[in-house]
Amino acid sequence: MAVNSNTVRVALMPGDDIGPEVTEACLAVLEPLARRHDLGLRFDTLRAGAMAYRDTGSAMDEETFKRAEAADAILLGAMGWPGIRYPDGTEIAPQLDLRFRLGLYAGVRPIRALPGVPAVLADPRAAGIDLVILRESTEGLFAARGRGEVIDDREARDTMVITRATTERLSDFAFGLARRRAAQRGRRGLVTLVDKANVFTGFAFMRKVFHEVAARHPDVEAAHHYIDAMALDMVRRPWDFDVLPTENMFGDILSDLGAGLVGGMGFAPSADLGERHAVFQPSHGTAPDIAGKGLANPTAMLLSAAMMLDWLACRGAGAGWAEAAAELQAAIDAAFAGGLRTPDIAGSAGTSDAVKAVIGHLGSAA
Ligand code: ATP
Ligand code: MG
Repeated sequence: MAVNSNTVRVALMPGDDIGPEVTEACLAVLEPLARRHDLGLRFDTLRAGAMAYRDTGSAMDEETFKRAEAADAILLGAMGWPGIRYPDGTEIAPQLDLRFRLGLYAGVRPIRALPGVPAVLADPRAAGIDLVILRESTEGLFAARGRGEVIDDREARDTMVITRATTERLSDFAFGLARRRAAQRGRRGLVTLVDKANVFTGFAFMRKVFHEVAARHPDVEAAHHYIDAMALDMVRRPWDFDVLPTENMFGDILSDLGAGLVGGMGFAPSADLGERHAVFQPSHGTAPDIAGKGLANPTAMLLSAAMMLDWLACRGAGAGWAEAAAELQAAIDAAFAGGLRTPDIAGSAGTSDAVKAVIGHLGSAA
């Protein structure tokens, strides 16, 4: 189903703590951007998360889910709060329910060094870090969520699930993404599966299926890497990698490691994509330690919004949407290149200063 560029409907889920703060910042930037490109963008603001659970007994009620499901895309801040949990002690995380219920198997998490943001690694090549972690988001070890078993007081079990269908879809998606990135960057694409095939049956199966799919994409280089070696190499030589498909929990962990390489969670956007639906949200959580202080870095949220505009363009919303996506990303880059420094990278620019800087560069960036 293609989207209609005149009336793109986005379900907006601000969530908890810094979620609403970065969402508000994002809207402040999207408004002038939409005007500049004449985008017919309508928002349907929905309540879900830990505070919704506290007040209504439901983290995301059925009516809310239906409205999110009916939208062309979902833009989400962050959800959860350490002090409020489900009766079994697990965190309030309706964003995980969205991934499972909408079949959002592809968790796209770009890790890109922004110009001007101080590099964590001393090597000059760190300025060229530009990879994508592709986190499988509907199965793996997270398939055990809500189904874990406490056998007795001495033992508990969670089961990992790897299916052929999801591995094939994820692998196909990875090669398609690498091909698109290669065309944009003028070089050959590389897809590196990250697994632990030397120990687990599920990962050996995943690797086998991955290489079957790889054979159908000879224009893109295919490789595999063990998760432990990948943790090492993402610190030692992250600039050598391109697209990294991996299991759900490995992707969860590698995403934070990757974010750390390029300035922290405030710089890590994400898109969770399925066949029809998509959720765009920063990779970070609700950051209760900095909530309410105007300190949240909105960059991850803004980059997620740029991914949303780009995805909508690919879904048929039209040329103006792709241009708006490119302009937003360029404005963010230009703001940091021009000296913007948020508190998470030892600067003093709060959320609203960052918004002003990015708006100031809309249209002026290359
Ligand atoms: P989750 O369980 O949802 O992944 P988390 O407990 O891992 O959440 P985050 O909320 O992602 O934690 O935050 C981790 C750290 O990164 C915190 O110290 C927080 O202050 C910081 N952080 C996260 N997001 C931002 C942001 N947008 N700007 C600045 N700092 C942030
Ligand atoms: Mg986390």
